[in-house]
Order: sequence, then C-alpha cells, then structure tokens
Amino acid sequence: MAARTTNNRRPNRLRNRAVIGGVAAGAVAGAGWRGRALTLPGALAAWLTGAVVTSAGWNHAAAMLAFVLSGSALSQLQGEHGPALTAIWEKGGRRDAAQVAANGGVAVITALLHLARPGPLPAAAYMGALAASSADTWATEIGVRSAAAPRRITDGRPILAGMSGGVTALGLAGSIAGAAFLAGVAVCTLARSRPSSRLRQFVGLCLAGIGGSLVDSLLGATVQASRRCPVCQVATERRIHQCGASTHRTRGYAWVQNDAVNVAATVVGALLAVVWQWRLGEPRTRQGDAVRSVSYATGNNSIDATVITA
Ligand SMILES: [Zn+2]
Repeated sequence: MAARTTNNRRPNRLRNRAVIGGVAAGAVAGAGWRGRALTLPGALAAWLTGAVVTSAGWNHAAAMLAFVLSGSALSQLQGEHGPALTAIWEKGGRRDAAQVAANGGVAVITALLHLARPGPLPAAAYMGALAASSADTWATEIGVRSAAAPRRITDGRPILAGMSGGVTALGLAGSIAGAAFLAGVAVCTLARSRPSSRLRQFVGLCLAGIGGSLVDSLLGATVQASRRCPVCQVATERRIHQCGASTHRTRGYAWVQNDAVNVAATVVGALLAVVWQWRLGEPRTRQGDAVRSVSYATGNNSIDATVITA
C-alpha cells in the first residue's frame, strides 16, 4: 500500500528536484562564469552536473554544493595563485569543461546509477567520489601555504612546490580536513539513520576521500607527465613554458595529465566507499528486523518506504 503511494509520488518529486536543481545549478554555474572561475564550456558542464546530481537526491545536491562552495572559498582566501605556481600548472585559474568533468564526472555517473537503481551502494560511490575530490582540493589549496618544501610521496625527495606528487604535512592535514568536511555533510544530510551507522559511514567516507587523494599524489609522482623547461631549467607541467619555450617530458606518460589523475582519484574514492558500505552490510535491530542501509537514499521515497520490513 505505502509503496504504491510513494511510487506514484516519485516521478513528481524527481521532476521537482530536476527543475529546482536546473535553476539552482544554472545560478551557481552562471556566477562561476561571471566571476571568472569557469570558462563558458566549464560553466555549461557545471550546470549539467548540478542538475543531474540534484535530480538524484537533495543530499546528493547538498554534498556537491558543499564541495563546490568550500573549494571556491578556500581558493578565494588563498587569493591569486602566485606566478611561481602559474608557471608550473598546466591550466590557468578558470576551470574548463575537462576539469569540471574530471572532478565531477564520476559523481554524475554514480548519481545516474542512483537514479536508475536507488540504493546505498551507488549513493556511497557518489559520496566517496566527492570526498576524494574534496580531499584533493583542500590538500592543494591548504598545502600551497606550507612553509616547508613538499616531498615526493614515493621517495621523500624534496620537489618544487606546486608539482604533482608532492606532499607536505599541511597538505595532508588539508586532505584529511577536506574528506572529513564532505563526509560530515554527507552523513548530516542523511535521514532515518542511527548514530552508530552514521559514525561508521563518516569514517568510511573519510578513508575513501583520503585514499583517493593519496592515489592522486602517487599517480602524480609516477605516471603523470612531468616536464622541464630547457631555457629556465625548471620543472613544470606545461607543454609551452611561460617564457615561450617548448618543454620536454622528463617523467611519466604524455597522455596522463592532471585531469586523468583526478578521474582516477575519484574512481578510487568511489570504490573504497562502496567496499566500506558493502562491508557494513545490512545492520539489524534488536528485534531482528532487517533495516536496510538506505540512509543515503533520502531523496527517494520509494526506498524510504521499505526502510523497515518487519
Ligand atoms: Zn622557461
């Protein structure tokens, strides 16, 4: 009975979320474009991302908004990245469509999976991917303030600040804080979930985010293309250095750029969160009722209706 009622309501709720998500994401993406944080294709990709993830659920939207706003706030606190970093990083301050897809692509795919078959696993994958993006963004924005020189994650040798694969204590703290922030937002927006279950999900999402961020650094130090300017004799990730000289590759594969590494990191974050959620399994109440771990799926009332099957 209850299931039938909620099933009838579900298309309406989905439509409402799609409309509100489309309008709100359009406003956020438009602001990002006007504020020169996004290129026009980047803004269009961000708009699409926001509309899809809001359709998947309000808690999906809240987590995405938390990731975008915290990253934007950290980068504004940081101010303009100095010329030293601009000389290293392949891309400038404005995020293009590829960067948006690299950070949000796995989130969009897992949100679509959740729309197709709502459940705790696609929802955990979504939150895990965002936790990894958040950990990586916070690590970068906070890590660049480090007074100590970064060390390569593989062999501990000092490397130029801003180069991929380098870690600092401050950056690691930023990574943990970014993962914890996203995990906190994710579990706070869960409805009908017991505190013990929330705590376990929080821990799982923190580990997923930090794991994804560490994989980002590992790939950055090994397979990601690293280049050198023959004129200035400095390391860079740019093909054409700021001085105008063509750089040559010193390490890694030419096709492995920062965007590809970001995608890999979010995939790892998603997989770790899925494994954790799967391992949590279906918690049981004392009465022996099967309580499905539906806590992620608050946006989908068809699932909420089956929370407790006596
Ligand atoms: Zn140069």
